[in-house]
Amino acid sequence: MPAWRNISLWMDQLDEPLTPRASLEQDLDVDVAIVGAGYTGLWTAYYLKRQAPQLNVVIVEAQTAGFGASGRNGGWVMGNLLGEDRLLAGLSPEQRRASFDLLHDIPDEVKRVIDREGIDCDYRKGGALYCAARYPEQEHSLRAYLDKLYKQGLNESDYRWLSPEQLAGQIRVARPYGGIHAAHIATVQPAKLVRGLARAVERLGVRIFENTPVTDWHSGGLRTARALIRSRWVVPAVEGYSVTLPPLGRYQLPVQSLLVATEPLSAATWDEIGLSQGQAFSESSRQVTYGQRSADNRLIFGARGGYRFAGRLRHDFDLTDNEIELRRYLFGELFPQLKKVRISHSWGGNLGMSRRFQPHMLCDRANGIALSGGYGGEGVGASHLGGRTLADLILEQDSERVRQPWVIREGGLQALKAWEPEPCRWLGYNAIIRSFVHEDQTLANPNTPPWRRKLASGVAGFMEGFMQ
Ligand SMILES: Cc1cc2nc3c(=O)[nH]c(=O)nc-3n(C[C@H](O)[C@H](O)[C@H](O)COP(=O)(O)OP(=O)(O)OC[C@H]3O[C@@H](n4cnc5c(N)ncnc54)[C@H](O)[C@@H]3O)c2cc1C
Repeated sequence: MPAWRNISLWMDQLDEPLTPRASLEQDLDVDVAIVGAGYTGLWTAYYLKRQAPQLNVVIVEAQTAGFGASGRNGGWVMGNLLGEDRLLAGLSPEQRRASFDLLHDIPDEVKRVIDREGIDCDYRKGGALYCAARYPEQEHSLRAYLDKLYKQGLNESDYRWLSPEQLAGQIRVARPYGGIHAAHIATVQPAKLVRGLARAVERLGVRIFENTPVTDWHSGGLRTARALIRSRWVVPAVEGYSVTLPPLGRYQLPVQSLLVATEPLSAATWDEIGLSQGQAFSESSRQVTYGQRSADNRLIFGARGGYRFAGRLRHDFDLTDNEIELRRYLFGELFPQLKKVRISHSWGGNLGMSRRFQPHMLCDRANGIALSGGYGGEGVGASHLGGRTLADLILEQDSERVRQPWVIREGGLQALKAWEPEPCRWLGYNAIIRSFVHEDQTLANPNTPPWRRKLASGVAGFMEGFMQ
């Protein structure tokens, strides 16, 4: 059996044998053929079958349910979308409020489903703490971020400023400058969620074929090594693996994110740190860090990984010493008592970044293609909304979801913005990331003179502008 258990701490923790489901051996005629058994594919199937039980829906998965980012992520279920400020900018205040309500409901709807389906995935809704905790400039940038959120119509019940003392009531970091509590965020054990969802859709009558890579897809069907599926609808739900299904790789850049997990920490250590209400946390630099306290009391901590030339996927996630030590350094800045703690697991995964740095949910009715993606590392919640929206679009349900600015109904795939050809992508991506790393190193050194701090932040801010 493939070493799926080694994919992540989360898969390693499952108490099921990970026995592969049957692979596809014969041709099929179905209503909806979904490629990929991650959250996007599974949520799409779930909401399709809940609304239209008569539909014949199959999912074809190259490996096993949860093999992709869905079985590896940091477990933040976010009630927001990457780039939502730009997506919602053209709406009236009332429309924007309705969109925010829809987004904020994501973690709650996930909870309703896991309760209904009996999926135990360590769900806790403690919000997230964005901590200014490494250098003083972080307080300034977090306050500016909060200002921006309030200008969009959000308020204290959504995002709340925490003074250093208030922050310490929730998380004890070495250098607290302040922080934001974001209310609409929950945490889960990601693999338990994706595996439980796979079982739930099977109970609804969806067939999942594993160890069955799709080699070709087109309007009206798809092909695997041994079989052909004819289908009214094809739903490629492969996000960070889009290069495997041309031409989707033009629209989704596969980038990596990498995590480490400590061994379970003692109750005394957690008393020092806090995070007793299931809060997720981030140290708010441009390294895109995310952490949570797992149900078995480990510290889970991740940060942005890299991008490989020509969008080559990374398959080997045995992290190098440098990759592990960077993450140890970052969480050790917050919790010096953990600088020498044993790291029991390290892993990573591929995620999809769209050229507009914002998600899309696309329905091309004429060609029978529906897809959702471009979550850019914020896809646990977004894929739920994506799957639910695709189900509405396919079934022609007139819901609030299908009227959102991230829904594309005209123009098919061409409506998505394509990435520039290589070497522009690689050079561009790496130039941006280098400016972020340089900024971080400059600001983390207290001896850096003010003019150099300003320059480093100015350059990084300018480069970040290209990500919009
Ligand atoms: C390390 C990491 C940490 C993250 N942390 C967070 C987080 O804390 N919060 C958050 O909101 N988001 C996070 N994300 C992003 C989030 O996990 C993803 O956006 C989300 O899981 C995407 O789900 P998906 O179903 O679209 O894709 P995936 O889960 O990647 O599923 C795609 C599936 O398609 C299959 N597949 C690929 N090619 C083929 C083919 N040719 N034929 C058949 N099957 C194929 C794959 O095997 C895979 O199972 C993280 C991502 C990573 C990698």
